[in-house]
Amino acid sequence: MAYTGRFAPSPTGPLHAGSMVAALASWLDARAHGGRWLVRIEDVDVPRTVPGAAERILRQLADCGLRSDATPLWQSTRDAAYASALERLVAAGWAYPCGCSRRDLLRAVEDGGIHHSRHGELVYPGTCRWGLRGRPARAARVLAAPSVNRPDAMLEIAWTDRRLGRLVQEVSREVGDFVVRRADGLWAYQLAVVVDDAAQGVTDVVRGEDLADNTARQVHLQRLLGLPTPRYLHTPLVLGADGEKLSKQNGALELDTAQPLQTLRSAGGPLALDHEAATAGEWLTTAVACWRDRWAGGTLEGNSECASE
Ligand code: GLU
Repeated sequence: MAYTGRFAPSPTGPLHAGSMVAALASWLDARAHGGRWLVRIEDVDVPRTVPGAAERILRQLADCGLRSDATPLWQSTRDAAYASALERLVAAGWAYPCGCSRRDLLRAVEDGGIHHSRHGELVYPGTCRWGLRGRPARAARVLAAPSVNRPDAMLEIAWTDRRLGRLVQEVSREVGDFVVRRADGLWAYQLAVVVDDAAQGVTDVVRGEDLADNTARQVHLQRLLGLPTPRYLHTPLVLGADGEKLSKQNGALELDTAQPLQTLRSAGGPLALDHEAATAGEWLTTAVACWRDRWAGGTLEGNSECASE
């Protein structure tokens, strides 16, 4: 199938040094495979969306020579597609309404019924699996189980990352039944990303390693909805001074793209791309060749400009 890649920023602010690495990696992978590269604006999380940030991101990308091969898709226009996916999940018995408030979940923790999962998210104890018990419906959740007839059985999802290798997550124990529509009525990232990757014909997801942990849930949803699973490549993260992933919370600054060559060279660092060039365009051309050599079965043997990873 023809390669289609994408960069899917959440417009919660302009690009910073970390998000530029993911943008560059996904663009390089698409070009190295002779494929298409799409930008998708993931503005489903309305309260976190900052007005003007998406336009700023597109400008920053364009300054660096990274332009979407199609008009960017905005997730805020995709309600009908997400609703129809949820309807199918409900009809097949995979999704159910959940009336639990955050307080209910915390109480369940206190009662010892559930524990925290890796990112401080609560593993859902299954409270509403058997009905709402008089609670008003708030969110919708999907069963983390191998079959609707065996909701308590273990769901283990294995997938292979092009860089990290084979990864396995026991979704039922580590995550539990997860939210696909939030209590505030907004669509959850997991559902939106799966529906849109399939709708856009995305064959290859290249994104930051902090998102790797979501992949098992996404593969589960793809299987339930009968959608293809793309290939995945999770890229190294840029760390802040505190050793945590660079983010607005630990002081990531808006990326200055007035000097595109410099911006690209910095973003290339974590991707082991450290060649010289006179212009941004020239830098990108060499970067595509190096990337092809390393990640796309290239035959550019011993190109002295390409550092090894
Ligand atoms: N919108 C997500 C973010 O900015 C990325 C989603 C993805 O690449 O799957 O963190």
